[in-house]
Amino acid sequence: MLCHCPCCGSSFEKFLPFGIIQRLNARCPRCGCLERHRLLWLFLQSQTRLFVDHQKVLHVAPEPFLQKALRAMPHLAYISIDLASPVAMMRMDITDLTFPDDSFDCILCYHVLEHIPDDSAAMRELRRVLKPNGWAILQSPVYRNRATTYEDSCIVHPVDRERAFGQSDHVRIYGADYFQRLEDAGFRVRMDPFVRTLDPVSIERYGLSAWEMIFICTKDPHIHRRSLC
Ligand SMILES: [Zn+2]
Repeated sequence: MLCHCPCCGSSFEKFLPFGIIQRLNARCPRCGCLERHRLLWLFLQSQTRLFVDHQKVLHVAPEPFLQKALRAMPHLAYISIDLASPVAMMRMDITDLTFPDDSFDCILCYHVLEHIPDDSAAMRELRRVLKPNGWAILQSPVYRNRATTYEDSCIVHPVDRERAFGQSDHVRIYGADYFQRLEDAGFRVRMDPFVRTLDPVSIERYGLSAWEMIFICTKDPHIHRRSLC
């Protein structure tokens, strides 16, 4: 069976291995997307109106292939930000966004928050700029066997961070309380087991992680912004 990348439409014998602890069948040889991006793409395509309706989109730390695809969609008003990446359209600190309140219909933020020392401030800012009826996918690596998040602001050296958090630029390991941390920032969170609605052949063919949950965040209307400060 050939593997197929829904992001770039290409088929291959296999996806490439990827990761510090290498995962087989992970990276698309053509566009570079990983398991989580292919799942995101399939989710956006089948479960949202993003590829159809006019929407204002904020993409944090943009993956180049995804930015290219979304920017090419004329019905989207797309903007990407990053603190340092030259790929992003604007340079911005996620904990201090310069956008007005209620600016975006959709926010995509993949594997960013585990790098941010004050992730709570970042979550509150993302919530602030999300429109009342908007939605955000805020995905981070979550270790399901950990009940609570492990972080220690005293661990700053890259070598120590790699030892403690698994990657030299990570500042924590999220546990099952990731959900609660998002809710504490004023989101209503739904963990969507979308991948489990797909048949095993498709999961294999698209090179997906069969256990991945998608964190869909909407604005909790009952929480006033000032109460979060
Ligand atoms: Zn691809």
